[in-house]
Amino acid sequence: MPLGMSERFMGHTPGKSQDAATDRGDTIPSAVRRGEPTLWLNPSVAPAAQALADLSIGQDDLGSAITDWKNFAPLLAELFPELEQSGGRIASNLLALSPEQSAEVTGPDGQDVPVVIKCDHLLPVAGSIKARGGFYEVLVLARALARKAGMDTSDSRVLASPEARALFANHKVMTGSTGNLGYAVGLIGRAMGFAAEVHMSVDARQWKKERLAAIGATVVAHPGDYARAVDNARRIAAADPQCYFVDDEDSKVLFLGYAAAAAEFAEQLAALPIHPTPEAPLVVHLPCGVGGAPGGIAFGLKHFLGDAVLPVFVEPVAAPCVLVQLASGRDQSTSVYDIGLTNRTEADGLAVPAASLLVCEQVGQLVHGVATVRDAQMFHWVARMAAQPGLRLEVSAAAGFASVRPVASSLTVRPCAHVVWTTGGGMMDDAQFEDVLARARAAAGSE
Ligand SMILES: *Cc1c(COP(=O)(O)O)cnc(C)c1O
Repeated sequence: MPLGMSERFMGHTPGKSQDAATDRGDTIPSAVRRGEPTLWLNPSVAPAAQALADLSIGQDDLGSAITDWKNFAPLLAELFPELEQSGGRIASNLLALSPEQSAEVTGPDGQDVPVVIKCDHLLPVAGSIKARGGFYEVLVLARALARKAGMDTSDSRVLASPEARALFANHKVMTGSTGNLGYAVGLIGRAMGFAAEVHMSVDARQWKKERLAAIGATVVAHPGDYARAVDNARRIAAADPQCYFVDDEDSKVLFLGYAAAAAEFAEQLAALPIHPTPEAPLVVHLPCGVGGAPGGIAFGLKHFLGDAVLPVFVEPVAAPCVLVQLASGRDQSTSVYDIGLTNRTEADGLAVPAASLLVCEQVGQLVHGVATVRDAQMFHWVARMAAQPGLRLEVSAAAGFASVRPVASSLTVRPCAHVVWTTGGGMMDDAQFEDVLARARAAAGSE
C-alpha cells in the first residue's frame, strides 16, 4: 500500500497499515476492521457550496420541510396535550456545559473549547431524535392521503378530524426498527388513527415493544438484526396497497424531517456567544445508525453554516456501517459483516449492519469524518452525564461525547465549540434508567 494513501485514510491511528491490502483494505482502516476506536477523516470532503450544489436533494426541499413543520404544529398541539404549551413545536434545548465539564469532555488537547449539548433525548412525545424523521414522514403521508380524498389541508388540524381519522383507519403504517423509529412511527400513527405495525430487530429493548403494544401497535419481533427486520417489513408492506412503509434505509422524507432540525439549531446557536467561521469551526458530533438522522442534520447544518460546521458521525466499533460504506467508495452496499465485524453493541439505536445508500450519496462530501467508539466509552459518558448535569441518556445517545477527544486532537484549527447531539433516552422511566446505569457500572468494572 502506498504510504501516502494509508496515512490519508488512517485517521488518528497511523502506523498500523501492515495488513494485507485486499480489494477494500486500502480504503477501510485496519483498526476499523479490528474493531478498535478509530477516527476516519473523509478524503472526499468538499467545500459546502460545491458539495451541496451536486446533490439530488436541494435547498428548496429543505425549505419545504421547515415550512411543513411550522404548518403541522397546530395539529401536533391538538394530538398531544403535552405540546399545547409549545404550540405544537417538536424542539429541544441547547445546554452549555460548565468550563470544568467541557474540559473533561475535550481532554488535555481540548484548548478550553466549550462543549454544548443539543438535547434531543428530551424531544417531547417520543423522547428521541426519531420524533423528527419518523413523525415527519407519517405527517406527510397523512396530508397526502387527505388531499387525495379531496380535503383542504391548509389548516393541518383537519388531519385530526373524524373524517380524516376514518380515512386513516383504513391504512397501516409500517416500519422496521431497533426500537426508537418504531416507537415514534407507532406513536404518531396511532395518534392519528392509523393501524401501525412495527418490525423490531433482536436489539430492541423489551420495554419499547411493550409500550408500543400498549398504544395499540402490532409489534413483530424478529430474531435477526435490523437489516432483516427492515427487509421483512418492506416485503410485507409491498404486497398491501393500504400499507405504507417508512423505509429507514431509503427515505428522502425521513431525511428531510431530520434536516429541518438545522433551522431550530441555527436559531438557538445565534443566541449564544459562539460564532462559527471556517477558521474556527463548530464541530457537531452525531450518533449514527443507518445514517438518516445524522445525515439529514449534517445536510441541514451545511445549508445554514456552510464550511463553518464540521459534522462528525459516531458509530460503535462493532457497527460502523456508514464509515465502511463511505470508506469503501462503492455504489453497492457494503456491510460491517463484510469486513468481519459483528454488529453486536449495547447501543441498540446504533446496531445497524448496513448504511442507507441514499444518505451516503447525499453526505459523502459533507461529513468531516466518522469516529468509532467502544460500548464502554458510551457507558462511561452515560454515567458521567447522569451525575452532572443530570442527563438521562440511553447508551446510543452518549456516543458523541466519546468522539470529542479524538477529533479535538486531530484538528489543525481551534474550533469555536463542540456540539454533542444527545439522541435518545427521554422515554425511559426510573427503573429502565437504573438498569442502564447498572450496566454502565458493570462495563466500567470489566475494563
Ligand atoms: C436512530 C437513532 C440514532 C441514529 O439515527 P440513524 O438515522 O439510524 O442514523 C442515534 N441515536 C438514537 C438514540 C437513535 O434512536
